[in-house]
Amino acid sequence: MDVYGLIGNPVGHSLSPPMHEAGYEALDVDARYVTFEPPRDGAAAAVEGAADLGVAGLNVTIPFKQDALAAVEPDSLARRIGAVNTVDFSGDRITGHNTDAVGATRALRAHDVDLSGTAVVVGAGGAGRAVAFGLADEGMTVRVANRTESKARGLAADVRGEGTDADGAAEDATAPDGVDADATGHGLDALPELLADADVLVNATSVGMEADETPVPAGALHGDLGVLDAVYRPLETRLLRDAADAGATTVDGAWMLLYQGVAAFERWTGREAPVDAMNEALRDRL
Ligand code: NAP
Repeated sequence: MDVYGLIGNPVGHSLSPPMHEAGYEALDVDARYVTFEPPRDGAAAAVEGAADLGVAGLNVTIPFKQDALAAVEPDSLARRIGAVNTVDFSGDRITGHNTDAVGATRALRAHDVDLSGTAVVVGAGGAGRAVAFGLADEGMTVRVANRTESKARGLAADVRGEGTDADGAAEDATAPDGVDADATGHGLDALPELLADADVLVNATSVGMEADETPVPAGALHGDLGVLDAVYRPLETRLLRDAADAGATTVDGAWMLLYQGVAAFERWTGREAPVDAMNEALRDRL
C-alpha cells in the first residue's frame, strides 16, 4: 500500500483526504492519504522525515509552501512562484512542484473560459503568485491588483522574469520558451479601469471567506469575463454572485482545489485522475 499525505498547520479541516481517497477507490489503487501537522518551523524536517518513512507523495499547505522549497529540488514553475505544494519522492531525487497554478488554469478551461487576452489577478500572496504565473505561462497578459500595491508590482516583475531573490541577485526566473510575459502591478483602486477590457478575473485574496464581502466593485464586472474565485468557503461568494448578475461565466474555488489535487494525483500515480469521483467527494463536504 502507498501512503500519500499533506503537511499543514493547522490541517484538521483539509478536504484533500476524502478527495484523493475517492480517486484511489475509483481506480482501485491500493493507497491511503493522511494528514500531518508538524511544528510551524518544521517544513524541511517533515519532508525529509516523510522520505525516510517511504511516503510516496506529499502535498504541502499553509504555512509550509515557501519553506518546503529548501527541502526539495523545485521544478522551474515552483522555483519562479517561490512555493511548493506537491512533493514527489518517486525518483532518485525529492522534487517539488506547484499545482495551484494548473489548478486555476484547468478550472477555468473546464468552464470553457478561453485563456487568451488579458487576466486580472486580485491578490499577490501565495495563491496570487501561483495564478499569475499560471496565466502568464498560458500567454495571457496579466494585471495584478493588490491591497499592498508594492507586492503587486513585485509579483509582476517576477512574472516578467525581472525579480531578484532575497540576496538581491537576479533570479533564474524566465518564462518558458515562446512566452514573453507581459505583467504589471497595481493597487485595488485601478480595478474598474483594468477590468474594462479584461477577459479573465481571478480573486486570489482571502476576501469573501470570513464575511459576505468582495474585493471587486460590482459595477466593474461585465458579461465577457470568466471569473474564478479561489475562495471556496463559502462556495458562492459575493464576487461570484455579482459576476453572475453581470452575465459573466463563474467558477468557484472548489474547482481550483479539485484540479490542483487532480494534478498531484496524476503526477504521483501516473494515471488519469477520476475527476468526477474526486469532485463529488469534495463537494459532498462543502
Ligand atoms: P496569503 O498569502 O495570506 O495572501 C492573502 C492575500 O489577500 C494578499 O494579497 C492580501 O493582500 C489579500 N488580502 C487579505 N485581506 C484583505 C483585505 N481585507 N482586503 C484586500 N486584500 C486582502 O493567502 P493565500 O494563500 O494567497 O490565500 C488567499 C485565498 O486563496 C484564501 O482564501 C485561500 O483559501 C485561497 N486559496 C484557494 C486555493 C484553491 O485551491 N481554491 C488555493 C490556494 C489558496 P496584502 O498583500 O495587501 O496583505
